[in-house]
Amino acid sequence: MRTRTQVGIVGAGPAGLLLSHLLALRGIDSVLIEIRSREYCEARQRAGVLEHGTVGLLREADLADRLDRLGLEHGGIYLQFDGERRHIDFRELTGRTVTVYAQTEVVKDLIARRLADGGALEFSVTDTEVSGLDTDQPVLRYTDAAGTRHEVACDAIAGCDGYHGICRPAIPSGVLTTWERDYPYAWLGILADVAPSTDELIYAHHRSGFALHSVRSPAVSRLYLQVRPDEDIAAWPDERIWAELAHRFALPDWTLDQGLVADKSITPIRSFVSSPMRYGRLFLAGDAAHIVPPTGAKGLNLAMADVAVLAPALDGLLHGDERLAAAYSATCLERVWRATHFSWWMTTMLHRAPGADEMETQLQLSQLRYVVRSRVAAASLAENYTGYPERPGGRLEPAEPARGAGPHAQPAT
Ligand SMILES: Cc1cc2nc3c(=O)[nH]c(=O)nc-3n(C[C@H](O)[C@H](O)[C@H](O)COP(=O)(O)OP(=O)(O)OC[C@H]3O[C@@H](n4cnc5c(N)ncnc54)[C@H](O)[C@@H]3O)c2cc1C
Repeated sequence: MRTRTQVGIVGAGPAGLLLSHLLALRGIDSVLIEIRSREYCEARQRAGVLEHGTVGLLREADLADRLDRLGLEHGGIYLQFDGERRHIDFRELTGRTVTVYAQTEVVKDLIARRLADGGALEFSVTDTEVSGLDTDQPVLRYTDAAGTRHEVACDAIAGCDGYHGICRPAIPSGVLTTWERDYPYAWLGILADVAPSTDELIYAHHRSGFALHSVRSPAVSRLYLQVRPDEDIAAWPDERIWAELAHRFALPDWTLDQGLVADKSITPIRSFVSSPMRYGRLFLAGDAAHIVPPTGAKGLNLAMADVAVLAPALDGLLHGDERLAAAYSATCLERVWRATHFSWWMTTMLHRAPGADEMETQLQLSQLRYVVRSRVAAASLAENYTGYPERPGGRLEPAEPARGAGPHAQPAT
């Protein structure tokens, strides 16, 4: 079946879903396709910390109803090392906060809103292909869940299909420059049905390895342990995980409460940046273009910051003004590299590298002491953690009346 839309979007993660909504606010048609089912996308456990500017973006885009009711505003984090746990007070240092609101909830809100607004979303598709990227009429092809093959003529395509997607590999070889670092450790993460044992996230440096006590809701905790990249999750029964967490977070007069482990997984830790984020009429956004270690809580925020830049850029491009589209890659990459550096810095300050000697440990401890004792160093951490630059993509303009296409994909002319 042949159809037409203005923007074809590949991938229903936070980047693709938010982009389709921001485009709809501008009266721009899109078709969004996703290889997984809606249920899978809504249940996939990933990030959970929203920067100050990301919350502002979602509020301006009228997407913050549940976020404002259920999100937990956090005014800082704890850094724990060498027997002390010290608070970094974001509110006092920057006047800003972060909000704990799970990526699963962000995705649920976005899907519900797109469907309520009559957006064209197709889940469980197969055989996605993009072509004609260096022409003014790129084409998106896929097979829907009922087995019908579709060919969608687009004015532009947004590759929001994550690190393992098909859009970045569709760019001819020699166009992209990539930078990649695999760290010599991974995170074993659990989701536990137990009230958090802390009011704010605890980042713990420990000689046995890093640990993070994160939060998902007043009744659900998210906890992580640094493990080897080739670690077998079968070697980690729940009792061993709780014992190791208690060991790494141990402080006098503090107890880690335990609960039912509802989800358990191991995530590799990687930095990856690909440049440019545009090839012809294909624009990459989110994990399709860059990956950061989760230590800085930046992956989800970067994905949303990219599409905050991309929506007005596509609006301009579709109406004959190429300037924002020409600046898209450089605008995003400036923020991406800042987040890449911050995430690397947090990661290497807090994790124990295999074979690390005492000199390295002492350097990490010195850096941690400096961060908690120097107001300037603490402010730098707080500024980066809450989001730098503060606003992702600039202030959203009010929705303009639709120019050109209507709200749905149209039959091919
Ligand atoms: C296990 C894990 C844990 C994480 N934990 C954290 C964390 O604690 N903190 C943090 O900040 N970040 C974390 N991240 C990173 C964060 O979740 C991502 O940065 C964020 O999901 C990026 O959003 P995205 O929309 O760019 O990509 P994704 O969320 O990956 O969405 C891409 C979508 O494209 C779909 N897709 C792929 N190929 C195709 C295709 N061919 N056709 C159609 N659709 C396709 C995928 O199914 C997926 O739904 C984690 C990531 C992972 C994998």
